[in-house]
Amino acid sequence: MRMYLNGQWTDGGGTREIRSPYSGELVDTVPEATAEQVEQALAAAVDGARAMARLPAAERQRVLNRAADLLADRVEALARTISLEEGKPITEALGEAGRMPDLLRLCAHEGAQLRGETLPLDAQTGATGKVGMTLRVPCGVVVAITPYNYPLLLVMHKVGPALAAGNAVILKPASQTPLSALKLTEALLEAGLPPNAIQCVTGPGGRVGEALCADARVRKISFTGSSAVGQRLTQLAGIKRLSLELGSNCPVVILADADLEAAADAVATGGYVNAGQACISTQRVLVQRPVYADFLAALQPRVEKIRVGPSLDKESRLSAMVSEAEAARVVEWIQEAKAAGARVLTGGARSGAVCQPAIVADVDPRLRIAREELFGPAVAVTAVADLDEAIAQCNASQFGLGAAILTRDIGAAWRFAREAEYGNVMVNWSTLWRADLMPYGGFKASGIGKEGPRYAIEEMTELKTVVFHGLDVT
Ligand code: NAP
Repeated sequence: MRMYLNGQWTDGGGTREIRSPYSGELVDTVPEATAEQVEQALAAAVDGARAMARLPAAERQRVLNRAADLLADRVEALARTISLEEGKPITEALGEAGRMPDLLRLCAHEGAQLRGETLPLDAQTGATGKVGMTLRVPCGVVVAITPYNYPLLLVMHKVGPALAAGNAVILKPASQTPLSALKLTEALLEAGLPPNAIQCVTGPGGRVGEALCADARVRKISFTGSSAVGQRLTQLAGIKRLSLELGSNCPVVILADADLEAAADAVATGGYVNAGQACISTQRVLVQRPVYADFLAALQPRVEKIRVGPSLDKESRLSAMVSEAEAARVVEWIQEAKAAGARVLTGGARSGAVCQPAIVADVDPRLRIAREELFGPAVAVTAVADLDEAIAQCNASQFGLGAAILTRDIGAAWRFAREAEYGNVMVNWSTLWRADLMPYGGFKASGIGKEGPRYAIEEMTELKTVVFHGLDVT
């Protein structure tokens, strides 16, 4: 495919091949933008922001709803693209693509709800004869930078709110998975979006992404990706609004009174969806000692039943990771844990980019597999004495995106919800759960800000204060 900038589908300075991580087959090619093209995209986006600011909310809503209808007609094709470029099983890709029409409609609705308020200026001595109000206005140019793991969902969570709020958006999708983003761009343009309201620029993040983020014409950066790049963007951005959705190593706590079958179901899902390549994937499992062995006995057959196979096979429940290098890294971390005394109960073997789903038990919390972000199909299980120790271990992490607890004790669950230093807390399910409408975002090194259309729109708009002087309001 070509990229889209300055109102045109265009080639770049070079091309990049997009290959299926599962089969290695060539799926498509995309351009790599030159520095000059990045500049063109920025200039066009300034023009697009003016066009969007003139578009009434009802018209923005109509365009986005039309695009949602187009996406609804294309769910199967989009799912195939997602599965081919990212490697996830087609059933998961269908789930991802199938969420898009409703998510975009939700954005369209929320974008038509930009409200201000009148200010009681007469409450301040000396401020009579004045009328004040606030207006919620678009930021202007929004740069959206997205990771590979949910190549359509995470793009939509930025592009949808940005456009709904009346901004122009420059999208820089992950180099490994740019095709879904380009297809979303097509649908938005077909639906009647002003031509310069969107730019979809492909190319390496270190060059294209940095040039976009450093530019003073950009008012807002919305980034989802690794904590390392997020950290870099805080240094680069200058005076801009910045949302960062970053990494994590999400813990699930299982107390002795929990329903162990339900806990095993939750972990066998939450640890392995998309081969563990989800920011809210369950990575650490902290089990109260009396039920530690029983929990592992319940978990193991469930993980061994996960059907591993080709990404386009409807029977596959786990397929390739995004690359062979990533799969090799995950195996290395598992082996490192084993060498340090952990037990690998199942999985951990690799063939190409496919890593067999693994359970690593008796993990010392100081090991890399418990401390850093694994982003692969394995969970690290550790025994804990009680809720105090579980909370301490959860909070010892540098990250703070999602945490979960399984227990029948409502008091313990409430205490966990209050004390866990995490942006999303789940009770009686794993960390891997998200409704598109909810506020979603991490604490600590997991980021800054919230997504979810209503919350993203708040971060992609600014509050303007207007005061009329010299009015006779007595
Ligand atoms: P990544 O390497 O940080 O890349 C993310 C995006 O940033 C890509 O588009 C990348 O472009 C671009 N990029 C790379 N270096 C850049 C730079 N110096 N300046 C500007 N942009 C740059 O992350 P990933 O490996 O694709 O994704 C996995 C990570 O995303 C994990 O850490 C995961 O936890 C996190 N994530 C977080 C959430 C959340 O909601 N909190 C959701 C999903 C994923 P290239 O592809 O061209 O390098």
